[in-house]
Amino acid sequence: MPATAKPVAVGGPDVSSSPHLYTSADFQVVGEAEDVIEDFVAAWERGERSGVFTAEKFQADVTKTPIPRFDLLDMSQYLYICVQYSRGCPFTCEFCDIIELYGRVPRAKTNAQMLAELDRLYELGYRGHVDFVDDNLIGNKKALKLFLPALIAWQQAHDYPFEFSTEASMNLADDNDLLEMLKRANFFAVFIGIESPDPETLKQTSKKQNTRRNMAENIHKLYSYGLFVTAGFIVGFDSEKGSIADAMADFIDECAIPVSMVGLLYALPNTQLTRRLAAEGRLYEGHDVMREDRTGDQCTLGINYEPKRPMREILTDYKRILERIFEPAAYARRLTRLTAMLDRSGRPALAKEDKRSQLASLQTVNRILDAMPSDRTLFWDVFIGCARTNPAALQSIVSLMAIYAHLGPFSRSVIAAIDRRIADIDATERTAPASGQGAGRARGERVLATGSQPH
Ligand code: SF4
Repeated sequence: MPATAKPVAVGGPDVSSSPHLYTSADFQVVGEAEDVIEDFVAAWERGERSGVFTAEKFQADVTKTPIPRFDLLDMSQYLYICVQYSRGCPFTCEFCDIIELYGRVPRAKTNAQMLAELDRLYELGYRGHVDFVDDNLIGNKKALKLFLPALIAWQQAHDYPFEFSTEASMNLADDNDLLEMLKRANFFAVFIGIESPDPETLKQTSKKQNTRRNMAENIHKLYSYGLFVTAGFIVGFDSEKGSIADAMADFIDECAIPVSMVGLLYALPNTQLTRRLAAEGRLYEGHDVMREDRTGDQCTLGINYEPKRPMREILTDYKRILERIFEPAAYARRLTRLTAMLDRSGRPALAKEDKRSQLASLQTVNRILDAMPSDRTLFWDVFIGCARTNPAALQSIVSLMAIYAHLGPFSRSVIAAIDRRIADIDATERTAPASGQGAGRARGERVLATGSQPH
């Protein structure tokens, strides 16, 4: 380290999954911080200026995690505040790094500890949306069912200052008691990883919890408890068929999930998927780092391995899904269907300090419509329809309209980036048709040797 340079300490999920990529940092904190952060601080205070502090896997005792320093936040700069109740998930999805980082036995905080975090937020004057960032809030249902009654009582005693969202697995729809408790605790939204409408693909990727069920009916059931759903979908699985584009877009339409986050499969470091692809000799060189000649994000840079179907076909399917689901009329249609299903009756009013309390006002709606790239009449009709038929759902529907003001243009920029990837493949095939490269591989992509270690 040069004498004038500042020491660099790194930690977090990517460092924990790929510490070999961060060796130039002076300090590495690998794994969950709770058990090693004190060692790091002690080493620093002793005058050490480098070191690696590695936590034993899945051993952090979250019941000893201190209350976050919410007082350091400028709350006015946040749309919502995050808390965490549990860590880990019992399922086995092949592409998931959560279970590698946090384990398959969810560890939960105590009721008193969790309520103390909410107390602190309340004392600081925060009111509004609080997200439980748990990997899967219902991963330990037994603990959660003991916590939710305390949360409901806390909300009642404080006159419902918070509305909650979270992430959960699809089996949430099987448990009416749990759904009723979430409703009474004032949960309003849940993210669910659906991934694919194809049962074969779900089985192949070990997402068995989404099979043997009617997922669209399950989603509609969550709507009947006043929870709107955002969902994740993935394109590029080995068992995927050529018909996936229309099947996925039709399914999203049937479910009526406005915010459907569709991405390309990415083999994350330190997952079962990456280990399998390495054993099969299908990982691309540099699969775990951003290529210097590319810019992009999780939507545009996926498929960092040799796919089973030609890459061009996968990208074309992906593009078609985005074109269909983010077409303004399709998004507006999903909002209208959601309006008919979302039962928000009996919910407490938002606190007056809640930033979202003016969301459904005409003035805000006009501002949202002004920000729409086009097709404002479509969304005005959605708003009027909701005001007439289901006014209790207005705040949810208007917030989903506001999200489209971003998602519409964003989806078009992703489609343009995918077009560039397709053009790159076409150019490579024109210039080197007999190069022996894998079908549709783009410029500069090479597979690692069979069995190469993915670190
Ligand atoms: S349900 Fe979600 S968190 Fe759990 S293993 Fe599957 S992808 Fe990971």
